[in-house]
Amino acid sequence: MKYLAALATAAMIPGLAYAQDAAAIIARDNAIDAHLRKAQSAAGTDFTGTLSRLCVAPTRFPLEIRDGAPGRPPARETWYAEPAKVFDNLYFVGSKIHNSWALVNDDGIILFDTLFTYNSEEEIIGGFKKLGLDPSKIKYVIITHAHGDHDGGAKLLQDRYHARLVLGEQDWQLIENSKNGFPEGKPKRDIAGDDGQKITVGDNTVNIVTTPGHTKGTLSMIFTVRDNGRPLTAVYTGGTAFNFPSTGSNFDIYIASQKKLAGAAAAAGATVWMSNHTEFDQAIPKIRMLAGRKPGEPSPFEIGKDAISRYFVVGEECAEAAKLKFADLK
Ligand SMILES: [Zn+2]
Repeated sequence: MKYLAALATAAMIPGLAYAQDAAAIIARDNAIDAHLRKAQSAAGTDFTGTLSRLCVAPTRFPLEIRDGAPGRPPARETWYAEPAKVFDNLYFVGSKIHNSWALVNDDGIILFDTLFTYNSEEEIIGGFKKLGLDPSKIKYVIITHAHGDHDGGAKLLQDRYHARLVLGEQDWQLIENSKNGFPEGKPKRDIAGDDGQKITVGDNTVNIVTTPGHTKGTLSMIFTVRDNGRPLTAVYTGGTAFNFPSTGSNFDIYIASQKKLAGAAAAAGATVWMSNHTEFDQAIPKIRMLAGRKPGEPSPFEIGKDAISRYFVVGEECAEAAKLKFADLK
């Protein structure tokens, strides 16, 4: 109160502009706090990784995003994870940090995301072999967005197994325009995934929901998994962190996509939630929990409609807070 009183006094003397600036900063900080509190309460204990990445320490990005070359591969023990069966028709072939998933039936396989170039061969192809799956049966590879931690194995799967690649149109352009991102060669342009498009192999159908924000062409998905014969609807979030130029309009695009995917997930009755980073969907600890699952217990991936709707509130509120923080970038 003392501070506000001092501000009011300051407003009546020549430092008027300064006092107005200070009042605006206080109002902005209060608004940021309100968004952070909403995000924290929506996250509960379910989405602590998402909360810390998006709300606690969001990174500010400049107008020009660097087209960097891939760094040196890190030590294998920092990333290698064993493959696992997660549902009747869904397998994990990711790393400790990044997720890749295979949606499987007798007619063929739809793969989601492809890790880095340095670990896709061992985790995906090696994982298939350990699981008794045949990589030559991969019909489609849906890549949620064109960043090196998800599109690194695309060329290998296209060249060796002639899998069809699906990416958002704007992310195909990112690949085509990249000068430094693909020292071992780029995947060739293939299918541009669009909103409402269905990718079907036998009785597995993936419904694409475009969710621009993380990249302009980010694709998210809704599909059915079966848990001991029980069909469950899964929603897969294609892009999470705010690594786009930190402008207000980019945050608005991101927030609109959160709302859109939340609506689509609710309309489809999604109760299973998945992502392409363990940090966000806790795939690795959940896979460990699966081993100790008792008969009749739900899968740790089946988090329910309420938790899924709270996830999208975390993304939305953290984006509102970051938008206010970084509002000076035009
Ligand atoms: Zn990314």
